[in-house]
Amino acid sequence: MQVSIEIATWTHNNHGLFDYESKELKTSKINVRNTTNLILNEDNSDTIVQSDNVGGDCIGSISFEGNSIYFQSNPDFQDAYVKLDPKQKQQLQAGDLFKFGRMEYFVSELNNGDKVQMAEDHYNLERHIKIQKKKDPRQCRFCLMDDQEETEDPKNPFLQDLCSCKGLMAYVHFECLKSWVNFQNRISCKQTLNTVQYHWNKVLECDVCKDPLPARVYIENQPEPLQMIQVEKLDGPYIILEQITRQESLSKSLTFMHAFGSCSVSIGRGHNSEIRCQDISVSRNHANISYEKFWYIQDQGSKFGTLRIIQSKLQLLKEVQEIQIGRVLLKIKII
Ligand SMILES: [Zn+2]
Ligand SMILES: [Zn+2]
Repeated sequence: MQVSIEIATWTHNNHGLFDYESKELKTSKINVRNTTNLILNEDNSDTIVQSDNVGGDCIGSISFEGNSIYFQSNPDFQDAYVKLDPKQKQQLQAGDLFKFGRMEYFVSELNNGDKVQMAEDHYNLERHIKIQKKKDPRQCRFCLMDDQEETEDPKNPFLQDLCSCKGLMAYVHFECLKSWVNFQNRISCKQTLNTVQYHWNKVLECDVCKDPLPARVYIENQPEPLQMIQVEKLDGPYIILEQITRQESLSKSLTFMHAFGSCSVSIGRGHNSEIRCQDISVSRNHANISYEKFWYIQDQGSKFGTLRIIQSKLQLLKEVQEIQIGRVLLKIKII
């Protein structure tokens, strides 16, 4: 058993959208017979070499384990995504991150009907904060109340270090900040058959220093993140899809999707899509999310594909799977 890898590299990373007619496209091919790291060799026209070392630009590794072979991403390099097969639906999990064209969606909460799965803070979004012990007297810059540490409500903690504000401006109650953010950012709410969609025009930001603020705040040693956007949850199976912005020019949104018995929700640029992504890189009918005892996603034959982040490792198959890592594309299969 060995692994065949066809490699294509582009000179520039263009949101992982690959132009196959580009003159700057370089291709090569390797076969892998043992567990090894895959190193991007930039000196030698972007070939991939096999190595026992992790040094350099290690884009991931191939591991032979019993009768199975896996691709494992390198968390210190760039995120790796696998392209979904449009012929098959795949089960959704909390913590999944999908790319539709260059739009990224994070499954931050998922309920299959029995219990709620919360995603952990992932993918270097830097939304994890520490609440520091009280040193000086602290006052909330919104309500001007002093800090009462002994009566602090864990759902409404006193926050600092959420943005660059210093001195008297540094401290806020979470609920005070949340009210302001929900008011100031003019969050619109759109209801469709299976969703409630919250949209805002720009990145949520601090009222003073204009630093971007996260839609969810993960506090150390607290199991549930605090939600900056007020989402009304309905009973029964649901998921929360959070649109993630790495480029501030793209808008953000939060979608609450619920199912009574079963449901099917289309995602795309077209007018008929229940979740509309108004970006040219998204196909008119791009993907579909459905519920039938579990939540599923299926690509609808979109131009740039539906990409799922590889959270730990991906089992390799006899069928070709496409893995995208920055400006590298691997077509990988067992032969
Ligand atoms: Zn306050
Ligand atoms: Zn600030």
